[in-house]
Amino acid sequence: MKIIIIGGGVSGLAISCKLAKEKIDNILIEKRPFLGGRAYSFFDKNSKEEIDNGQHIIVGACKEFINFLYEINAIEKISFEKKLRIPVLNKNKLVNLRSHNFPINILGKVFSILEYKHLKLRERISLLKTLYKISKMKPKDLKELDNENFYNWLKNNNQSKNTIDCFWELFAIPALNDEIKNVSASIGIRLFQVAFIESDINANFAIPNVGLTKLLGDSAENFLKNTNTKIIKNQEIKSIIVKNDKISGVITKDDRKIKSDIVISTLPPNQILDIIPKNHQSYFKKSKEINMAPIVGIHLWFENYFFDEKFMVVLGSPIQWIFNDSKIKNSSSSFQHIVISLSNAWEWKNKPKKIIKEIFLSEINKLFPKSKKSKLINFSVIKMLNATFRCQPGIQKIRSKNRTKIKGLYISGDWAESEWPSTMEAAVISAKNTILDIKKDFANKL
Ligand SMILES: Cc1cc2nc3c(=O)[nH]c(=O)nc-3n(C[C@H](O)[C@H](O)[C@H](O)COP(=O)(O)OP(=O)(O)OC[C@H]3O[C@@H](n4cnc5c(N)ncnc54)[C@H](O)[C@@H]3O)c2cc1C
Repeated sequence: MKIIIIGGGVSGLAISCKLAKEKIDNILIEKRPFLGGRAYSFFDKNSKEEIDNGQHIIVGACKEFINFLYEINAIEKISFEKKLRIPVLNKNKLVNLRSHNFPINILGKVFSILEYKHLKLRERISLLKTLYKISKMKPKDLKELDNENFYNWLKNNNQSKNTIDCFWELFAIPALNDEIKNVSASIGIRLFQVAFIESDINANFAIPNVGLTKLLGDSAENFLKNTNTKIIKNQEIKSIIVKNDKISGVITKDDRKIKSDIVISTLPPNQILDIIPKNHQSYFKKSKEINMAPIVGIHLWFENYFFDEKFMVVLGSPIQWIFNDSKIKNSSSSFQHIVISLSNAWEWKNKPKKIIKEIFLSEINKLFPKSKKSKLINFSVIKMLNATFRCQPGIQKIRSKNRTKIKGLYISGDWAESEWPSTMEAAVISAKNTILDIKKDFANKL
């Protein structure tokens, strides 16, 4: 059986490595000269440093992604926080949102929320009630809420604007890359169930301590080196070939035909139709209803250190999350490298670099007065216009199944069916589920 995987992002890499681990040969074809898809790093000419295309964070609940890192021997390249502690700066007041190691999990959370002074006492109590309600919700309840938006659901559950701004959005905007008014209540609630409620360790952050290409593309390639997997980079697939509703191979951009019994596409929803022949597109048309959203990353290098936290959330400022890349990567450089990650970045995606620099440098100087004494050495802006797919109301009904109508063609990728939003965890879950489907369909033939 010949297997072709189109796309060397997280999902394609996970499928390829998992198959190779079981000694199932496969060919991985990637159109760009490097692996990693939407999670990669590159050499920045300005700073002469390797920087990421966007700050990537995972939580302890990303079990499949963490397993994948173990599989490709990359687990040391990500640092796990021992406890949940998020410094939140609001109107010059710094409050930590943290968990406690009490013997009973729920007690730990009660104390952490009760200490969260950006909310009034009655708001904290109301927040606890809503978190408790969420903890009791079943998959059936969530399914019914897919068409409702998360903001309305929170409002109907007595969450004040302040609680929404200072608690719910603090997690939801970066995790869902959208305003919660635009997000399906089902996905929003599930996010908090998995990441905040189900176990204490789940919400703990893990942050790559090397560039994303070292973490993912290089580690996977290194793992595959000793297997029969063939990796072809710089090769765009123009189309799949279908005969009698059955896959028979792919055509490359330079018009070469490669035969295959099984083809797995890991293309994002905004690109999948490009490789489907016109007469088979109707089944895949729903992908057009899935929209993508931008993330903008701002990199600043200062002459001296002024920011000691690993990361911080800033409320009531265009800065949302700020990361201390020097500390996270344990850099030996004397400069301080700061990364500001702007999710839901519609406002910034077309703004010129010069204006972004003025606005964010002045904001940093205002929030961290010590930074005024430190010269800005370098500045870069990275705009990822199609960073993640949007989890708008109704999304769960239009995400793709792994198995398709065309025999031997499978869809994997973060947007394929799962409970997770557009994340590396979703990309690996879909990889695992795709392999399960293939095994069922081709039982003894692999
Ligand atoms: C700025 C930014 C920040 C993010 N932050 C986080 C985060 O904090 N945590 C998190 O979990 N996730 C985060 N994400 C999302 C995460 O990166 C994605 O969910 C994940 O990488 C998607 O992987 P994928 O394999 O499904 O798709 P992709 O990475 O899109 O992979 C598809 C691959 O197919 C290739 N391809 C496309 N067309 C063709 C063709 N015709 N022929 C051959 N190859 C083709 C592409 O080049 C690409 O390599 C972030 C994303 C961005 C951009």
